[in-house]
Amino acid sequence: MIQIDLTGQVAVVTGGSSGIGLATAELFLRAGASVAICGRDSERLAQAEASLKAQFPQAQLLAQTCDVLDADEVAAFAQAVQARFGRTDMLVNNAGQGRVSTFADTTDDAWREELDLKYFSVIRPTRAFLPMLRDAAGSGNNAAVVCVNSLLALQPEPHMVATSSARAGVLSLIKSLAVELAPQRIRVNSILIGIVESGQWRRRYAKEAQSGQSWEDWTAELARKKNIPLGRFGKPEEAAQALFYLATTLSSYTTGSHIDVSGGVARHV
Ligand code: NDP
Repeated sequence: MIQIDLTGQVAVVTGGSSGIGLATAELFLRAGASVAICGRDSERLAQAEASLKAQFPQAQLLAQTCDVLDADEVAAFAQAVQARFGRTDMLVNNAGQGRVSTFADTTDDAWREELDLKYFSVIRPTRAFLPMLRDAAGSGNNAAVVCVNSLLALQPEPHMVATSSARAGVLSLIKSLAVELAPQRIRVNSILIGIVESGQWRRRYAKEAQSGQSWEDWTAELARKKNIPLGRFGKPEEAAQALFYLATTLSSYTTGSHIDVSGGVARHV
């Protein structure tokens, strides 16, 4: 495995209290970075903080309650990172969730909510952390924004019409941001994921699985139904590894790009 030392660098992961975000925070801590995570639910955040501290007793870790859709809370989160660590080198815009709905059952309010979530979960943290990213880049260090996006951006699903549409827009936003920020030496990339085992899917399993059906059986059946070529859901750490690559100097000549982490679901060439 390639070793990379991130001692002295700071990584911020929105939605770092569960699933992909938590796995990403772990990777950054393992590489020696200081890490800041946020989430809305203080209990879930405290559990994540405790589990990270148990694994990495020396961890420089900040966990702060913050809804990425609330501009004041995002500004307060950025200020807390500045006060505690004095810098941000890598920002992972991960917070969010999908919406299952067809055109027929998506109300105007639901459309607005979904577009708001997908766009502003990228726009607000990026805006708030940009001054620190600029400082990092200005001192000649790696500075990167990485967004968790979905393969739905390129391969829409009618049963997730609003999410698919918003994801496509965010892919465009990321491309524009990458070009605008490139002269400032800040890279902007994303990952396009298919289905990754996470809190969202655990909650769907709790609601939808037949009684007695194990998590393994339920996910294997879904992977078959959804024709995932690799035959299984992805693991949070598999998405996290791609995020880590895009956030660090391992990808120093890559910007405005994306990595497919969908188990082969993408059908385009
Ligand atoms: P999880 O539910 O396990 O984690 C989501 C994280 O985001 C939690 O920490 C959650 O904490 C946080 N979060 C959600 N909304 C907000 C908000 N408004 N402000 C701050 N934090 C928030 O799911 P995943 O790990 O799967 O999700 C990570 C990202 O991956 C999401 O953006 C999701 O849409 C995307 N994705 C996931 C797929 C999958 O198959 N797993 C497929 C496609 C995309 P809290 O609820 O306490 O705020």
